[in-house]
Amino acid sequence: MHTASLPDSADGTSAHFRDTGDCPPSADRAIDLFFELFSGLPRQGPGSAADTARALALVPPLPPSARILDVGCGTGAQTIDLARATPAAIHAVELHEPFVRDLAAKVRRLSLDGRIFPSVGDMRHLAFPPAHFDLIWCEGAIYNMGFDAGLEAWRPYLREDGHIAVTEACWFTAEPPHECREFWDAEYPAIRSIDANRAAVRWCGYELVGDFRLPASAWWDDYYLPICRNLESFRKRHPGDEAAATVAAQTEREIEMFRRYSDAYGYVFFVMRVTTLS
Ligand code: SAH
Repeated sequence: MHTASLPDSADGTSAHFRDTGDCPPSADRAIDLFFELFSGLPRQGPGSAADTARALALVPPLPPSARILDVGCGTGAQTIDLARATPAAIHAVELHEPFVRDLAAKVRRLSLDGRIFPSVGDMRHLAFPPAHFDLIWCEGAIYNMGFDAGLEAWRPYLREDGHIAVTEACWFTAEPPHECREFWDAEYPAIRSIDANRAAVRWCGYELVGDFRLPASAWWDDYYLPICRNLESFRKRHPGDEAAATVAAQTEREIEMFRRYSDAYGYVFFVMRVTTLS
């Protein structure tokens, strides 16, 4: 997910799944290759149904009239889990149109029409009325805006006493191994300790309800292992293609980092209640 392998966008966000409107052709091709390699996965980032349920348990029960916003929903693994676990209406926003189509097809198949409303949209420019949501959810996607920027930008969409639950990559140690730090410096230099993110929660106008580390299985089971399976067929489809070989190698490097250093970093679920209304 946090792969620094592609030509960076002007705003410095990770290139992996970002808006590609103003990229040179070589960047477009690399991004297309990444999307190809990342297609057909159960999820587009680390996470699991059990972790979604654990975070949701920190939020007061929602009535049927409640509205949830799922930001950067991908193909909607967590959106569907939220629909099953609550009676709320869920608006699922995602920039990459094929992911939205994929989720819309699942919603129809599962007869969740009327419960889940997928749409193409940009987390930086959400088009909802103020104080519209009881709960904002964002797994593995707030890094596209930055933790603090996302928390601040989305707060006005929450009702009084509304909650927000997001996962963010964090250091688990004050002194990460050199190779690992180098990787993240290039990849996502904004990565911080859990404590630093807890402090950010407060200054962004929230009270922390709880947080917990995602287990390594949340990275492997529905994310890295399916990517490893995709890598084999991806390489076969692109023999002698330098750009494809680079994309494959960069993805393998990210996975190798986690294999070696999962004690040093990982995702943390932060569940918060709004305290400062805008
Ligand atoms: N929540 C999903 C997807 C996480 S991957 C899961 O956990 O499986 C991050 C997602 O954010 C990708 O689907 C990517 O396309 C989306 N994304 C990236 N930039 C975005 C933006 N500006 N607005 C909305 N979605 C964005």
